Amino acid sequence: MESFFTKKQTESKTRPDGKLYSCTACGLYKNCTNPRMKPFGNFKKKILNIGEAPGEMEDRNGKPWQGKAGKLLQRTYKNLGIDLFDDCLNINAVRCRPVENEENRAPSNFEIDCCRMAILQIIEEYKPKLVILLGNAAVFSVIGHRWKKDLSSISKWRGWTIPDQDFHTWLCPTFHPSFIERSTTTPGIIVEETIWVQDLKRAFQKLKETFPVYEEPEIEIVEDLSVLGAITSNEIAIDYETTGIKPQAPGHKIICCSIATNENHAYVFMLPQTNRERLPLIDLLANPKIGKIAQNMKYEDTWSLVRLRQRVVNWIWDTMLASHILDNRPGVTGLKFQVYVQFGIVDYSSEVDSFFSSDDNKNANSINKISTLLEKPGGKEKLMKYCGYDAIYELRLSKRQRGIIFEHILPF
Ligand code: URA
Repeated sequence: MESFFTKKQTESKTRPDGKLYSCTACGLYKNCTNPRMKPFGNFKKKILNIGEAPGEMEDRNGKPWQGKAGKLLQRTYKNLGIDLFDDCLNINAVRCRPVENEENRAPSNFEIDCCRMAILQIIEEYKPKLVILLGNAAVFSVIGHRWKKDLSSISKWRGWTIPDQDFHTWLCPTFHPSFIERSTTTPGIIVEETIWVQDLKRAFQKLKETFPVYEEPEIEIVEDLSVLGAITSNEIAIDYETTGIKPQAPGHKIICCSIATNENHAYVFMLPQTNRERLPLIDLLANPKIGKIAQNMKYEDTWSLVRLRQRVVNWIWDTMLASHILDNRPGVTGLKFQVYVQFGIVDYSSEVDSFFSSDDNKNANSINKISTLLEKPGGKEKLMKYCGYDAIYELRLSKRQRGIIFEHILPF
């Protein structure tokens, strides 16, 4: 049987010196009554709740969710038809109680790192259908080691129901109950609780759905662009990799381009040097019968106009704009974030990401480091593959967004 952990995951659980984070390294076990608290609950509905860390009462009783926050969680789950201890299994991102001056305290990221292996092993062993990540610590524990960009806080993660393809389970982040508990004691502030209950309701609905598994797309690298003339689909997604962000600045160019023809296929090519060789691409961009999709379409539009002297005709969808229309929180419109929260694919870009920055990041006209990537063995293929994934995921995302916007939100 294939290992549950991908190579990437195993790598990211290790420290730069190649060793694993050790459970005992944080030292918390020395000062608590019930170290390495065991998972608790009958798990009848295959829901795994991950909290932050045991507090004083939990440590004393050897069970999670014994205090005020736990009572609120129990009540809220009950109202939604879920028994916290009978239907779920309950653990914390850190299994030993963190203390400071004999008071409960939040665990540090290092303490969460040390406990992560145990948490991931529990997910592997129990195979939950649904994992509720309650608060920042739980998000950092289960997502933090795989998410190579800024993790930000729970406000950005809450409410998504992520079909995590590494864990084969729904990951549903939401607020920690103690945050709700604090909010609701402030008279008049109940909005957080309403949002929290909605998040949980949406998460529990996932128990009825089949877990989606996505096909590995075909990324077809081509040299002769004449294949573009034979495209029969009436919509395509376009993605360029370029030397920087300003097409008008001297020395800039489009390096490669991908055209997704459907949700599972894209053509990718290095931009040819001559106009004659580029002609099939230019004809495709100019073709009014084929709808065009992009992530931030003004980018592809401007590069096409400035560097190919052809405006893109018949834009039909911008996935970035639609992400913002569907959810206007800051930090959620990036393609990588959307690909993770919508399709559960956590990282397809970290191998190339660093080459998109320049040595002079303050200068918007500067040239990035893609030429360095192209000089590396296999660098060109990596860039093209990444470009192909971008276009395919844009097309997949646009379909999902159009489904939501046209079928569910606008009933006229
Ligand atoms: N808070 C948590 O995060 N976990 C518990 O078990 C109790 C309180």
